[in-house]
Amino acid sequence: MTPKQRSHEMGIFARQLPVRLAPYPDELLSSWIIRHAAFYEIPPLAMLRHCLPEVLSLRAADLDLNEGQVVRIACMFSIEPTTVRRMTFSNIPQSSRRLIAGEPRQLCCGCRPNIDGSHIILRSQFLGWRITCPLCGGLLQSIGVRDRRSPFSRYHRAALTGERILDNEAEHGIKNWVSPSEIARLLLMRRVPKPLPDHYEPSSFRVLGVIIPDLDDVLKMETSELPTPVSPILPLHLRAALLAGVAIVQRAGPEMLYMPRGHMMGENKARFSNAIEEIVDCARQSRTSSQLHLI
Ligand SMILES: [Zn+2]
Repeated sequence: MTPKQRSHEMGIFARQLPVRLAPYPDELLSSWIIRHAAFYEIPPLAMLRHCLPEVLSLRAADLDLNEGQVVRIACMFSIEPTTVRRMTFSNIPQSSRRLIAGEPRQLCCGCRPNIDGSHIILRSQFLGWRITCPLCGGLLQSIGVRDRRSPFSRYHRAALTGERILDNEAEHGIKNWVSPSEIARLLLMRRVPKPLPDHYEPSSFRVLGVIIPDLDDVLKMETSELPTPVSPILPLHLRAALLAGVAIVQRAGPEMLYMPRGHMMGENKARFSNAIEEIVDCARQSRTSSQLHLI
């Protein structure tokens, strides 16, 4: 069948595609749609809007499909709705979404999927809490920048725990006494607001450096600054520090959050104090209600 004939077929069978390509494990929905578009020789957005005319971009389809839209895609591609949902980020709660990158940031050299010349984009390539590949467990590598050895190798075990904790929250909605992604956000706050003249600490220093002291020395050598709490996706070689910090705070409990306050100044100290008071209050309330539940 020529591409023209295929496109014609698509017009006739508006609801179901005559040929469907099998999704690769952990493949992102937009990647799968792009592969189909290449097969039918039409633009990827046209492929998506053939099924969901109201969706404006492939990125929107990856992030925010509702149940009805998932079913419509599943119907067109003759596949289970659960399979379609698993290819998107629609299961990820708002608190973890800051950690989803806008473009692929990393890849696993052991699992570089390529089918018939089509490059496959995996969901895990966007996730800012991952340092290992969910398919093979191997270490991920950066895309577009020279890979650098992590200066936090001695925190590797704690970092793996942090990765699991953040993954459990994002993918399965599991929290302990606090949202791990909220801890990650707080740990990236600056200890001092900038500029503070004659202060002994550079304003690039973060709360995280109090928990992982090696970070301060590493930051003195870095040419670029760490990302902000609003978009807390660290370069891969520094990411282990944040993951380990999350694991350490989660394990130590709410009291651990009081420790960095002594290293902070000005409005940042006040904002941090308010945030942790709120977190500690919530933790206390949920502990009380679970105790009441047990009585
Ligand atoms: Zn892999």
